[in-house]
Amino acid sequence: MEQGFSPPPLSLYIHIPFCLSRCGYCSFFSLPFGKSAIAEYLGYLHREKALYADCLSTPLKSVYFGGGSPSLLSAEQINKLMQGLQLTRDAEISLEINPIQISPAFLAALNTTPINRLSIGLQSMQDAELVWLDRRHHAAQMADKMKLCRDYGYDNISLDLIYGLPNGDTSALQRNLDAYLALNPEHISCYLLSLDEDCAKHKDALTLPDEDLQFAQYELIRHSLVDSGFQHYEISNFSKTGKASQHNLCYWQSDNCLALGASAAGWMAPIRYQNDANLADYYRKIDAQEHYPNRQVCSLQRMMEDFLMMGLRLIKGIDMGDFKQRFGRDLDSIYGESMQHLNRLAMLSVKDNRLALTEAALFVSNSVIGELIL
Ligand code: SF4
Repeated sequence: MEQGFSPPPLSLYIHIPFCLSRCGYCSFFSLPFGKSAIAEYLGYLHREKALYADCLSTPLKSVYFGGGSPSLLSAEQINKLMQGLQLTRDAEISLEINPIQISPAFLAALNTTPINRLSIGLQSMQDAELVWLDRRHHAAQMADKMKLCRDYGYDNISLDLIYGLPNGDTSALQRNLDAYLALNPEHISCYLLSLDEDCAKHKDALTLPDEDLQFAQYELIRHSLVDSGFQHYEISNFSKTGKASQHNLCYWQSDNCLALGASAAGWMAPIRYQNDANLADYYRKIDAQEHYPNRQVCSLQRMMEDFLMMGLRLIKGIDMGDFKQRFGRDLDSIYGESMQHLNRLAMLSVKDNRLALTEAALFVSNSVIGELIL
């Protein structure tokens, strides 16, 4: 290794696909929770982790336990998964938590682990919406649960919010946002509901708000949260100063992220890979000691496109100097024509050598970015 050279930090995602029950809107890979099933799964997860021992000798800037419901792991199981990992000094270690699991006993045990960020699957502060979403917690419990998290020292808490529910209107959403703000979280992630074909509630897809109402709801979220002191730093994410999700920034900045667990998707440039979303194939490939399953080795063009697709989700956009440094090409030598076109349509802006979506483009980001790179 060259003197003075330190490898770029790496992030690690660990997927725990088990849930207490299946939510009707969910189309993630998730399985019913059972102690023996999770024990067998963790055995394979440890073997998968060992396959990447070389890569995991790099210090990790973030570790994210996602799911599924990773809060079904015991503190001992979390500690065992963290064993042997090198961490940067200020590494962010996140755990997604189902609100019904937040209790003094759970948090006391969690205090014995390195978890320092909680991502709470709150989804709504309206009981009628929680019932529709098949969530088992109640809005009235959340103030006490947040206080409990604070009492146990957690000062970096993110709340998920789902908008665009059937029959939802903007005044109900405003009440929901006010209730979220009263909980005083450091971070809020907002997701537009979609009912994919493979989810139980797909039959309700026709009752979802039309695009105009979805847009009005998105704008309401954006303005309410920004007016309340949140920084809108990514299309769907809002944070208090210094509390942006370090783990998700690694995706949006196209930094390397090793992903472990069934269905988990990783990026180890130039390799994009995804573990199988069924246990039989996931286990079989670990038995065969296969690295980077279902991988694609990305061409330079694919890497540039992915960099733009992810980086333009950030409100500050992408640094055109960084693009040149990574890919050895000037951004406008490749995309200059479509950049100018989208700039004329007021969908893209170039300022201080940064390329960013304009406010008008945020809600239709996929089509704007698609037009840029086609
Ligand atoms: S939405 Fe979350 S908790 Fe519900 S089934 Fe899907 S992964 Fe599990």
